Amino acid sequence: MKKFNLQFLSTIFPNYIQLDPEKEIHQISIDSRKEQQNQLFIPIIGERFDAHDFIPQAIENGAVAILSSRQDIGQIPDDVTVFYVEDTTIALQQLATSYRDLVNPVVIGVTGSNGKTTTKEIVASCLRGQYNVWKTEGNLNNHIGLPLTVLSMEPNTDALVAEMGMNSFGEIERLSHIVKPNYGIITNIGTSHIEHLGSREGIAQAKLEITAGFNDSSVLIIDGDEPLITQPRQFKQLTCGFSSQNDYSITDVSLNDHSTVFNVNGSSYEIPLLGSHQAKNATFALALCDSLGLNAGDIKQNLTQLSLPSMRFEQQEGLNGSTIINDAYNASATSMIASIDVIKHMDYNKKIVVLGDILELGEFSKEEHYKVGQAIDSNIDYVLTIGEESQYILEGLPINYKGVQKHFEDKKTMSNYIKDMIDSDTVVLLKASRGLQLEEVAEQLKM
Ligand code: ATP
Ligand code: MG
Repeated sequence: MKKFNLQFLSTIFPNYIQLDPEKEIHQISIDSRKEQQNQLFIPIIGERFDAHDFIPQAIENGAVAILSSRQDIGQIPDDVTVFYVEDTTIALQQLATSYRDLVNPVVIGVTGSNGKTTTKEIVASCLRGQYNVWKTEGNLNNHIGLPLTVLSMEPNTDALVAEMGMNSFGEIERLSHIVKPNYGIITNIGTSHIEHLGSREGIAQAKLEITAGFNDSSVLIIDGDEPLITQPRQFKQLTCGFSSQNDYSITDVSLNDHSTVFNVNGSSYEIPLLGSHQAKNATFALALCDSLGLNAGDIKQNLTQLSLPSMRFEQQEGLNGSTIINDAYNASATSMIASIDVIKHMDYNKKIVVLGDILELGEFSKEEHYKVGQAIDSNIDYVLTIGEESQYILEGLPINYKGVQKHFEDKKTMSNYIKDMIDSDTVVLLKASRGLQLEEVAEQLKM
């Protein structure tokens, strides 16, 4: 697998010693413990460690070249090239941009408060068969994960699907300059990270930074039901959503046990994911494929074969044949409400929702949890909460809520309470922020 040689690196980083221009780099690594021949080691300075200290270990493990922002890195073997740079994190990003230009795939950037990973996976599935697709692994969506994703791309990649995450202003702008998207998808505007961004308007502006690295023919694909996503329209824009005003208008959504069926501009589609929000995520992919001129029949077929990474509304079998929906990967108020909505429409005799804290909400925490409570109705039989902030969900329940509501201090007591009442006609949703690790409850409910 040829990637690039040190000559290529020397054109980006002209300050070097011991250059062997023909030597090839097969892998980029920021982890000195990884054994890999012909790797370029990039030592990142983090909060706790300065990886420059691990340069000898990286060389032992196969590094033939290193970037360094320090001069005092000790004796370097003659056959290892050192490129001196100002800042290794910025250098990593610069290298990613150069490699992106070298490989030159169609780049699809995906951002939004919720549904980035899901939409990225749907887009990648739709393009497969027509393109050599490279995509973000898992959730590697930040200023380090994104460049690493780009740099791990195979040289024959012709479509890159990149998830772009953020906590504050300027981050998506930076990521957009790194990957220079030909298409940018904004899935939705929720309330995640509102602590740093002040308001939903602020969140929308931060997501719109995805256009920072656009070229004149780049296309923005957005949730057309969200009035806050407004760009000055200098870029071509495709809107997707439930209102009839949208370029891609979704109607007739219905849920089966394991799939969602819906129409877009009159054509019918089916996806093995549950919920109208998932129909919207799939519609972003449809708009993209349409714009790329792909065959509609192939896309329809690819959509039926989707699968998502684990803990995202993952259906599992629990005790006594019950259905556990492990959605414990992460949560925001918007995604929690979307998941509860799906449960409301499911056909089970007993519907239990287990909800934990939504973290990182700062002063908005009480209000956001309360909002989740307000969105629950008596279609849900049990609302069980765990954590500290989640108690506000119970406070938000409508006054006429007829189900059972209960707060728990620990997972074990909660699991035992649930185990005693589940059968084959029961569904249990587990959802909270990552920090709560609610998947442990899923494990308990299987034993
Ligand atoms: P993260 O910021 O953690 O990377 P993400 O944006 O990648 O999150 P996903 O992992 O795809 O999001 O989905 C997270 C949750 O959001 C899931 O529980 C899913 O049900 C919900 N979700 C997915 N799409 C939407 C949407 N369009 N609107 C609201 N909620 C959604
Ligand atoms: Mg994600």
